[in-house]
Amino acid sequence: MKNFFVSTAIPYVNSKPHIGFALEAIQADVIARYRRFAGDSVFYLSGTDENSLKNVLSAKEAGMSVSDFVTKNAEVFKSLKAALNLSWDDFIRTTEERHVFGAQKLWEACKDDIYEKEYKGLYCVGCEEFKTSKDIINGECPEHPNKKLEEVQEKNYFFKLSKYQDKLEKIISSDELKIVPERRKNEILNFIKNGLEDFSVSRSRERAGEWGIPVPSDESQIMYVWFDALSNYINTLGYPDLGGNFEKFWNNGETLHVIGKGINRFHTVYWPAMLLSAGLPLPKKVFVHGYITVDGQKISKSLGNVVDPFELVRKYGTDALRYYLLREISSYEDGDFSIEKFETRYNADLANGIGNLVARVSALGEKLGKINLDSEKLSAIENQTNLERYDIWIENFEFDKYLTGVWEDISKVDGKINLDKPWAISDESDLRDKIIDYSISIAVITKLLKPFLPEAVKKIEKCFIWSEGSLSLKKTEAIFPRL
Ligand SMILES: [Zn+2]
Repeated sequence: MKNFFVSTAIPYVNSKPHIGFALEAIQADVIARYRRFAGDSVFYLSGTDENSLKNVLSAKEAGMSVSDFVTKNAEVFKSLKAALNLSWDDFIRTTEERHVFGAQKLWEACKDDIYEKEYKGLYCVGCEEFKTSKDIINGECPEHPNKKLEEVQEKNYFFKLSKYQDKLEKIISSDELKIVPERRKNEILNFIKNGLEDFSVSRSRERAGEWGIPVPSDESQIMYVWFDALSNYINTLGYPDLGGNFEKFWNNGETLHVIGKGINRFHTVYWPAMLLSAGLPLPKKVFVHGYITVDGQKISKSLGNVVDPFELVRKYGTDALRYYLLREISSYEDGDFSIEKFETRYNADLANGIGNLVARVSALGEKLGKINLDSEKLSAIENQTNLERYDIWIENFEFDKYLTGVWEDISKVDGKINLDKPWAISDESDLRDKIIDYSISIAVITKLLKPFLPEAVKKIEKCFIWSEGSLSLKKTEAIFPRL
């Protein structure tokens, strides 16, 4: 048994959750469930980033106090748990006492690497980051072409990132901190090799809109939102207390951050540098997923193509959304969402695929009543070979390949049934053998699908009742009704 920690990034709460964050939360959830089934002790964390300037600006727009605004929106993010059937163990808001306390303690632990400097630079509120000439294309932040870069000149605290250049390069190239996929690792290695510059870790109270976590021992300064936000991962585990969950999961566990490609640098350069500075262990792995486009276009409020995950769940069900996002969106690349593709996949793979297979076998088997089984048949489910590939796919976060593999197995059983024509078999013992055969295949498929489609699997398990030495089948209502 291993200790395993997995986290999503913590999104800003300046707008409602979109489908890109739904993807991330579901990816982390599948990993968490998979590890729990494997017998590991799992801690799955999600949360919200509430101290950013973006939230201050959006609150003003909404005519609300920042505090009311972030609380209201954080509740929406929390309700993703029920909507997407997420199994997170904790949800941290960065306005919570435990977070504020931990962030300030981490600052103090990094104090030897923090110094004061007068600074002038261009700031992107979208990224919550100062941009250097390398980052700016045509005078704009490439991630936020609609937002004007803000010219800032003030006294800030800086973190000595440059000091960790060689160390970080070594840690990442040796996979001591493993970045998946490989091209994201190379991207970061290039970034490091180009030279790391110290970065600003505070801002004036005024520029922060009087919102955020004060720098310990300097009330005129507010912590840079990323410096505070990144510490959420350990604050949840009880930091600065180094015992308990911190000891169990951060010190002695496998630790994994699931993030989007836009914030790779923060998690694989800034965050490990801060931990090194504080003398704390580093995360073991960072998985970087791509972005979702909608009908081939970048998701943006101004384009009006923001897809609401809650609406999709209401219309098609939680498992259908979980399936689409992990099957259709390639784990390592950007992927596209469209209602048309969604409905095509739904009908082909869910209604006609797994749904139909379960319906036809359970209907054929129900009339056989209780089927007695010898132990050899029963052990066939546990001793399936050729399942290692699924472990490897999960290990590499290749959810799309995993599900493609399961659906190949589903078509194999379908093909067998079409060949056998069990509906035309009159000999009952012949039919019984066939039904046992199909049921074993379905049991293996069900087990593989459990982390992905938890509700559908529960329904399937109600149709195939395995007990000591016997199997009974029960006809089912459509698990995925055709659209
Ligand atoms: Zn930006």
